Amino acid sequence: MLLNAPPTARNMLIPTSGVRPSGKLKTQDNMQIIDLRSDTVTKPTPGMREAMMNAAVGDDVIDIDPTVVELQEHIAGLLGKEAAIFMPSGTMTNQIALRVHCTPGDEFICEAGCHIYNYEQGAFAQLSGLVAKTIAGQNGLLDLDQLRGSVRPDNEHTVRTRLLCLENTHNRGAGKIYSLSRIQALCNWAHVEGLITHLDGARLFNASVATGVSLQAYSEPFESVSVCFSKGLGAPVGSCLAGSREFIAKARRARKLFGGGMRQIGILAAGALYALKHQMERLVVDHENARLLAHAVCQCESLSLSDKVPDTNIVIFHVANEWGTAAQFSSSLKQHGVLSLPFGPQSVRLVTHLDVCRNQIENACEAIISVAQTPAN
Ligand SMILES: *Cc1c(COP(=O)(O)O)cnc(C)c1O
Repeated sequence: MLLNAPPTARNMLIPTSGVRPSGKLKTQDNMQIIDLRSDTVTKPTPGMREAMMNAAVGDDVIDIDPTVVELQEHIAGLLGKEAAIFMPSGTMTNQIALRVHCTPGDEFICEAGCHIYNYEQGAFAQLSGLVAKTIAGQNGLLDLDQLRGSVRPDNEHTVRTRLLCLENTHNRGAGKIYSLSRIQALCNWAHVEGLITHLDGARLFNASVATGVSLQAYSEPFESVSVCFSKGLGAPVGSCLAGSREFIAKARRARKLFGGGMRQIGILAAGALYALKHQMERLVVDHENARLLAHAVCQCESLSLSDKVPDTNIVIFHVANEWGTAAQFSSSLKQHGVLSLPFGPQSVRLVTHLDVCRNQIENACEAIISVAQTPAN
């Protein structure tokens, strides 16, 4: 029964629960929907579709697909790693990284709100026999002082602490960016302790475009890096895992084991290549739009933000109990044509992306202010 549990306040923390279609809340006919649930809702642009249609392809399981090879080499170069491998999802790249780096009975350290721990069904435990040690950071970011003393002593009572995993930008931390110096300090500590380091860089492109720090510089302190093309970059499918040649060869074996061996994937790889070449620099527009949304939220007495100015493209605001719940706020926004995601009992997430323009953002700001003035309670 548990497997089919309906949405409740408890499982509302799962982001997808907010996207369940609701029969009760129909927006008015011909109202243009502004979809701010996630940056994964983007549709392939005409140029991307054309690149996908014309992609050279081959069977990447029997031998190789030429376009996916081009993508893998391109992303490995951008991240400054020896090699990279394409996979269908960021969940798979993260989980295969953990599996290849660790052995059953190992433990990895991660931030308590991270994607790997919260939104991947504990696959590290289910599929690879690993344990997570979570440490609550500030807006998703860990501090060196919190890590000191967190490696277990080497004796037969304990699991072996093996790896440190960071997330940049941090999703539940409202798109927070780790500074390069903090990453270097944390990874340096990990390496001195004999730990391996993995970066969940699903939105690393946002961090790089926002700060001007290169993808390579952000990736350098990590043995492996996972990136997603289906978030702000706007490709329909795909992630890459990058690292040493030896590591990627092992990841390729694990990908087959996990059912991720794919045939003529040049069609998908072409979308990702197009996104990297034509849709990365424009992420600054999404960041500017997120600042406009945050500014509107700040004008509302019943709403609050932990950071008044978002680092990147995610805004997570708190709804005062006096107003009502996050689910009620999200429903009211929907009646104004704005889709959002309840991200906790009292918090709502908005994400800007390629498929929402400035004008729509301005309309969304008006909707937020208008909804905030009319408490549900
Ligand atoms: C989206 C995301 C992933 C991967 O999710 P998939 O849906 O499996 O592609 C991993 N980490 C973070 C931080 C994400 O936001």
